[in-house]
Amino acid sequence: MSVLEDNISKLEGYLARFLDTGIQNRIAGQDAAGSKGVFQTTSPVDKSMICNVAHGTAADIDKAADAAHDAFAEWRDLPATERKKVIIRIAEGIEARAEEIALCECWDTGQAFKFMSKAALRGAENFRYFANQVVQARDGQHLKSPTLMNITTRVPIGPVGVITPWNTPFMLSTWKIAPALAAGCTVVHKPAEASPLTARLLVEIAEEAGLPPGVLNTVNGFGEDAGKALCEHPKIKAIAFVGESRTGSLITKQGADTLKRNHLELGGKNPVIVFDDADLERALDAAIFMIYSINGERCTSSSRLLVQDTIREEFEAKLIERVNKIKVGHPLDPETEVGPLVTEEHFNKVTSYFDIAKDDGATISAGGEVVGDEGYFVRPTLFTQANNKMRIAQEEIFGPVLTSIPFRSEEEALEIANDVAYGLTGYVWTNDLTRALRFTDKLEAGMIWVNSENVRHLPTPFGGVKASGIGRDGGDWSFEFYMEQKHIGFATGHHKITKLGAL
Ligand code: NAD
Repeated sequence: MSVLEDNISKLEGYLARFLDTGIQNRIAGQDAAGSKGVFQTTSPVDKSMICNVAHGTAADIDKAADAAHDAFAEWRDLPATERKKVIIRIAEGIEARAEEIALCECWDTGQAFKFMSKAALRGAENFRYFANQVVQARDGQHLKSPTLMNITTRVPIGPVGVITPWNTPFMLSTWKIAPALAAGCTVVHKPAEASPLTARLLVEIAEEAGLPPGVLNTVNGFGEDAGKALCEHPKIKAIAFVGESRTGSLITKQGADTLKRNHLELGGKNPVIVFDDADLERALDAAIFMIYSINGERCTSSSRLLVQDTIREEFEAKLIERVNKIKVGHPLDPETEVGPLVTEEHFNKVTSYFDIAKDDGATISAGGEVVGDEGYFVRPTLFTQANNKMRIAQEEIFGPVLTSIPFRSEEEALEIANDVAYGLTGYVWTNDLTRALRFTDKLEAGMIWVNSENVRHLPTPFGGVKASGIGRDGGDWSFEFYMEQKHIGFATGHHKITKLGAL
């Protein structure tokens, strides 16, 4: 039996139970049907139905918000060391079921097993990392003034909503849910409708690890009803959102009446800037990895290649050769580098840019075509002869599609790099240290790597500027979002209090 056949057979085993029951919502530790019946999730590999999914709406969000509200005080007041133990056990549960999570994720989203096998383990790492911060999360400062001993402390904000997208749904959910639980918040999670499988696995693992009922609730459904209701719910104190920039704007509007605190991690059109003095082999490897791994469905993807004109021809020639060799295939085949795009809608969006590129006057130097008609497969694509005004340079395509744009000078590279609505990441390749310092200082992005691909280090801040978002994940920044600062001033003596009405 090949590894692919073996993976398919294991997957069938894991999915069997969902064929009967579908994916239920999970509210207050109980399975719950969706108040609007069910919708179906299909696999992008062959367009087959995977299973029914509870179709939740405002009524289900209401129940989940009540459950999160009712569970809050007990979870908040649990001694930090006890909360830490539960969260560590969640990490262990994820590790124990990493293969199941990875296989389900691949089938649901089309992501290649090569990358998803690690994503499940990175999810466990998130829980472990934040578990280890639990004890000091509430620590504050002592800010002495002449008449007062001022102290600060932090308390969890309350029940929070977590709304996640479909691109790497398991890993992204853990980014949000792990620090929220560590802070002492309770959670209502609304996973993306296109990829509900692994959110179900996560809530099961959490409950098996001893998370009390109602601390993590999962309501499946669509953004315009379940998602909207979560943002509007008065018992939900904050929304941690990952998704498109235009949805981020809706999240803000929907939360206005209840003065919601929002953390928005949104889209990107990130530049990788390659100067002619760089280590070109490494720059090539990193540029390819950052746009063609994870199907290019990655917020931090380097979707614009800005390459110095002196090396453009040589660099693009090598790029074309490598892009043409990228292995597109079944996501459960461990050799596959690019799997199918998540849904028909997204496939139509990505492939529409093949014509847009031509209409704009760019050249399709690699790919630009679909693969078969069984699923939503496309060839990794490279657009050349492009300029930064074109739609292919300005819009987030969110697929394995790279736009190459030449530049002449450092000033021009910077101008092009910053001339987009987004500002999530930037990747700079140069061996000139002073230029790297100068350039990164002016580059409009929340995260920048010099002579490196995106290597996530959990204590560092993750997030974007401009249309790429508001707020940061990671390290203590996560706790800043899920917790409220409190100041308490203790008088140290009898300082003068101005008397009114005492004349
Ligand atoms: P999306 O915005 O369409 O959907 C994301 C989630 O929001 C889904 O769960 C959806 O149901 C929900 N939603 C939709 N409308 C809503 C509404 N009105 N109210 C509340 N919830 C609503 O995004 P997507 O297509 O699922 O994901 C791809 C996008 O996510 C890309 O733009 C990508 O760049 C972005 N992303 C950003 C990061 C980051 O960290 N910055 C990470 C991953 C993905």
